[in-house]
Amino acid sequence: MPELGLPIIIGSFTPQIMVTLFVKANFSSSDVQLIRDSVSIGRKILAKSGIGLAVIPPGGVSSREHIGVFAHTGSLYEEFKDSYGRTQSRGPGGITARTEVQAKMTGNTNRAVVLFGDASAQGSRGYTEVNSNFPYYCIVKISAAAKTTMLHEVGHCADMQHYMANRDLTDSATADEKNIMAEVTDAKADLRDNLNQMEIDLLKRSYFFGMLD
Ligand SMILES: [Zn+2]
Repeated sequence: MPELGLPIIIGSFTPQIMVTLFVKANFSSSDVQLIRDSVSIGRKILAKSGIGLAVIPPGGVSSREHIGVFAHTGSLYEEFKDSYGRTQSRGPGGITARTEVQAKMTGNTNRAVVLFGDASAQGSRGYTEVNSNFPYYCIVKISAAAKTTMLHEVGHCADMQHYMANRDLTDSATADEKNIMAEVTDAKADLRDNLNQMEIDLLKRSYFFGMLD
């Protein structure tokens, strides 16, 4: 029953995105530290746009179990080649885990759900399932150990796309490598620290953005 080790809400009257976090059952203290760091760095980036990041416990804001736990073991997402030969991800394990955690969440469902766990996929640090019966949900591959992956994947939940990191949207050669949606190497992942106006607008229109009351 991990606690976050940070305030779950910063400023009741700050507009915030709302996330609910889950970790695999056999988590370690360093796994919880990665989650804490992901929240902390997400807050730093969003604060530049006057947006907060609230962590809503699965059982509601008064629950001491800040971070939920899922029992599903094994890979949450995997890679495959689509009919064009492109590498894509899919998350059958993630869907199983998401079904499990759905039953543990009470209250409003206006939150981006993030699962921190294992993945067999080698080419990515996270994955967001957009083709499911649920609201979109995110997976962060713990072993990749990048602190910006959570915010990147939550961005996908707000319909943010990789091309939005391009200064010229039609030219991937113009990608701003410091934009949160940029596709960068592991070495550059945690150097990402900004969102542009298009991305901020999408976050503000997302189903998990709002004022806490
Ligand atoms: Zn992405």
